[in-house]
Amino acid sequence: MIPFNKPYLTGKETHYIYQAVMSGKLSGNGLFTKRCQQLIEQRYNFHKVLLTTSCTDALEMAAILLDIQPGDEVIIPSYTFVSTANPFILRGANVVFADSSEESPNLDIDLIESLITSKTKAIVPVHYAGMACDMNKLMQVAKEHNLFVVEDAAQAIDSYCSGKELGGFGHLSAFSFHETKNIIAGEGGMLVVNDERFAERAEIIWEKGTNRSSFFRGEVDKYGWVDIGSSFLPSEITAAFLYAQLENLDEIQSKRKYLWNLYYEYLEEVQVKGLLKLPIVPLYATNNAHMFYVVCKDFEERNALIEHLSKDQVHAVFHYISLHTSPYYAHKHDGRILNNADYYTERLVRLPLFYELDEKQIYHITESIKAFYRND
Ligand SMILES: *Cc1c(COP(=O)(O)O)cnc(C)c1O
Repeated sequence: MIPFNKPYLTGKETHYIYQAVMSGKLSGNGLFTKRCQQLIEQRYNFHKVLLTTSCTDALEMAAILLDIQPGDEVIIPSYTFVSTANPFILRGANVVFADSSEESPNLDIDLIESLITSKTKAIVPVHYAGMACDMNKLMQVAKEHNLFVVEDAAQAIDSYCSGKELGGFGHLSAFSFHETKNIIAGEGGMLVVNDERFAERAEIIWEKGTNRSSFFRGEVDKYGWVDIGSSFLPSEITAAFLYAQLENLDEIQSKRKYLWNLYYEYLEEVQVKGLLKLPIVPLYATNNAHMFYVVCKDFEERNALIEHLSKDQVHAVFHYISLHTSPYYAHKHDGRILNNADYYTERLVRLPLFYELDEKQIYHITESIKAFYRND
């Protein structure tokens, strides 16, 4: 069976973990954490990066930093993972779901203005499959209405919008290093602080509400409890693993892009025949090859295709069930019909994409898809 995902190891992970262990410093915010944070800050020109135990945690930090209060409204796409919503729900906010656009599962920016009320506090765009929302347009809307923007850039490492790195637009941004993403640490993530006003408090919230970080820099002579917070920082073991991955970022990215382009090349004829839709990379966006998905004609065909691939030893999977229809939130949703989010819920299929996949396997997978549409 060709698995849907297989975590890639560069070979240096255990070496760096060994170093971390032998250094005698295993808890967070040590040498490897600093190395990872610096590498990312320099490469992408981010103001400040804090490693976290997950992207979910980074988004929780963002919700605390924005001082989200009960009754505040936060606009997020419906077609996303629960972690885009939960951190704001935990602070008592109501999420207002935006529909996807027609061309991609990303939220439809033209709709946002109609969703803004006097209670709206923030917009949380998701860059689905690592392909950018039109951030220049979105930041403009946010600015006009004095709203914060938090990018859920979980899937968007090393991807750009109009030449600027994703995660660099919002006041705050969150990335994931979960084992299903391009760059992994098992479980892991990071918060990017672009708005300087949040930098100092972010460190405090990160370290359980204490000013421990400034204490270790010698800025204060004792540290204590100064704000709310939690344990958002990963151990040095996680950071050591991540550092090995980050060192190989270019190699990982170029292999993934090569595989993605093969999929596209082999499947284009099926799209030309009007049988299947392939992803659209907007002109302003780059493709970081996080995911290769196809969009089927309808729900039945989507399920039949997954079944057909499974018989050919290929593990393909559907993706999100739109959050506005979820058991937890359906009765809280305001009742608007979100046609495009439903469309992707019913029709989208993700194909295997991981570093060690090879050209022969992609040929096998795409031939299986072509056979499905020839009915043989
Ligand atoms: C993976 C993912 C998350 C969650 O990331 P974790 O690191 O597992 O918390 C959140 N949002 C989106 C869009 C994701 O793809």
